[in-house]
Formats: sequence, structure tokens, C-alpha cells
Amino acid sequence: MINRKTILVTGGAGFIGLNFIPYFLEKYPHYHVINFDKLTYAANMGELKRLKAYPNYQFIKGDINNRALLEELFSKHGISDVIHFAAESHVDRSIKAPDVFIQTNVHGTFTLLDIARHHWLDTENGRKCRFHHISTDEVYGSLGAKGYFSETTPYAPNSPYSASKAASDFLVRSYFHTYGLNTVTTNCSNNYGPKQHNEKLIPTIIRKAVNLERIPIYGDGKNIRDWLFVLDHCKGIDLAFHNGKSGETYNIGGKNEHTNIEIATILCGLLDELAPEYKEGTDFSSYQELISFVSDRPGHDRRYAIDASKIEDELGWKAEENFESGLRKTVEWYIHENQQSKPT
Ligand code: NAD
Repeated sequence: MINRKTILVTGGAGFIGLNFIPYFLEKYPHYHVINFDKLTYAANMGELKRLKAYPNYQFIKGDINNRALLEELFSKHGISDVIHFAAESHVDRSIKAPDVFIQTNVHGTFTLLDIARHHWLDTENGRKCRFHHISTDEVYGSLGAKGYFSETTPYAPNSPYSASKAASDFLVRSYFHTYGLNTVTTNCSNNYGPKQHNEKLIPTIIRKAVNLERIPIYGDGKNIRDWLFVLDHCKGIDLAFHNGKSGETYNIGGKNEHTNIEIATILCGLLDELAPEYKEGTDFSSYQELISFVSDRPGHDRRYAIDASKIEDELGWKAEENFESGLRKTVEWYIHENQQSKPT
């Protein structure tokens, strides 16, 4: 029998959601996806419009704090599952203006959980309805030169962003333990790939390079992140959503550690090869000459690295994209976007 789910995907107009929804609807064309998004500055309207091509897809504009609207949506559409991406996601913004991070990431997640509880748990099949919470490895804080974050690493968030995500993870945990809501949480490392907002590290490096502006790198550039191609993240979400154990958390990461300065250097090398035309007529032999160190981010975590053996062993997940080819695809996508957005 075909399982016809109606899945509420929150935050599907952002980077990961915009990669996840096409992947998911192509793999499960019998599912109905309702993308619920407030359309903050982080939403990509051009990419959002392209999703209309999918027959089982619908977009509804709204805030995850809008209880009345969500109640109506759950009743009217018979929401069977939630995949919750919606969040304020930029660490630098959380340092400057934390309020909205608490409002969306903490209170918004609470509102969604509470509506799911009321709608699902009184019904016959309610305990089968899945609430999948998308979270980050930043909740674990910062690592030294050695070691990895596992699902049992104590939480030690250091920025208002990671603290708000940690709080939301704990709320999800509590709704499983207290009410028996069928939850699963995935904590992922840094994603890269097409459709990411310009303010994040990799798009910033590409954009600054092609505009021949200084490429800002925090501190000594030696902060380490564990980079994962966004589609590998989507595949991990798919597996955890369908097969993850109720109440469990799964870490997703690529065992692919790089310092920020390494990332900038690789990207500049790719741009030298793929887009030399932007530096024509200048003295630059490489875009690398634009790299410039700036004052460090306050409380900047030194190193993140994920031990993904639980999702690998229990659910058969594995990062598939090779870093070189993933970055190449990413650079090609941004160059194409940059050319499209130029006035003719
Ligand atoms: P993003 O900032 O690109 O997109 C977030 C989306 O959420 C936007 O479309 C925005 O309009 C929407 N949104 C924000 N506030 C909302 C609200 N109150 N109600 C409804 N919609 C709202 O983020 P992303 O990079 O796609 O990240 C998605 C999720 O994955 C987040 O929960 C983030 O914490 C998590 N995550 C991201 C990464 C990463 O590297 N990008 C890594 C691990 C985990």
C-alpha cells in the first residue's frame, strides 16, 4: 500500500530546504509537501518559485509562532509529519541581535511541537506521526585539536544561535519523553552547495572574489569546520525521517575537516580556473591575493568535527560527494547565478 503522507516542511525557502524539497519529491512523488515559511531575508524567492513545478507541492507563507494559522493548517490538511528546518541560522546575526533567534528557534519550535502534540496524540495513529527536528553540531560547543562530537557529547553551546538551537533540541527531547511524541533530531555539520544565502562563508568568498573585493577571513583563518555537501545532508534526513528510532538523535557529518583559510584558498583556485574573466585587466594573478584577515568573531568556536558512525551503522548513511567535485559544483552554480543576475 502506498503511504500518502502530508508533510509540513518548515523553512523550505532557505538553503537546505530548497535542496531538500526537490530531492524528496522526486524520490517520493506520492507524498504531499506543504512548505511553510515566513520568507525572511534568508529566503531565496527565485528558487522558491521553481518548486511550483512539483504537482504535490504547496507553499504557505507564515510564521512558526503563528499558532492559529498552524492549528488551521494541521486540521485542514491533515498534516501527518513535520520536517522542521525553519530557523534563524546566521551566527554573526545572533551576536548582533539575539532576540529573533529565541523567538523563532526556541519559541517557534515549542509552538510547532505543542500543536503536533495536540493534533496527533489524541488520534488512533498519532504516535506514528513523525516530528523531525533539524539541528546543528554547534550545540556541542568547540573541540580542541583532537576528538569528535558524538550523540553523547554534552551540550556546550557558545553563541546565541547555538544556544537557541540547543534549547530547541531539548524541547524536542522533552516532547518525546513527556508526551510520547514520535520525534527524531539530526545534528549536522556545516553544509555547502548551491542555493546558500550570500552571507555565509562559501558564498561570501565567491561573491567577494568575483566582485574583486577583499575576502574577509576571521582571526588567523585556522578555525576548522567539518564540511558536508547539502545533498548528503538531505539523504541523511531522508533516512532518519523514515527509519530513525523514535526519540533518538543522529549526528551527520562528512569527516571532511578544513580550516577557513584552506577553504578560501581552494575556492580562489577554482575561480582562477572557472571564472578568470572577472580579474581580467587587473594586477591579480590569483583571486587568492584578495584574501584578507579581519578581527575574529567574538566567542568563535575553534573546531567542529562529527563522528557520524551511529547514522552510518544504524541507518546505512554515508557521505557520497567528494569535496573537490562538491566545491566545483558549488562554484559553477554561483558563477551561473552571478551571470544571470547581471543587468543585460
Ligand atoms: P536558512 O537561514 O538558509 O533558511 C531558513 C529558512 O527559515 C528561511 O527560508 C526563512 O525564511 C525561514 N524562517 C525563519 N524564521 C521563520 C519563522 N519564524 N517561521 C517560518 N519560517 C521561518 O537556513 P538553512 O541553512 O537552510 O538551515 C536550515 C536548518 O538547518 C536550520 O534549522 C539550521 O539551524 C540547520 N542547520 C544548518 C546548517 C548549515 O550549514 N546551513 C548546518 C546544520 C544545521
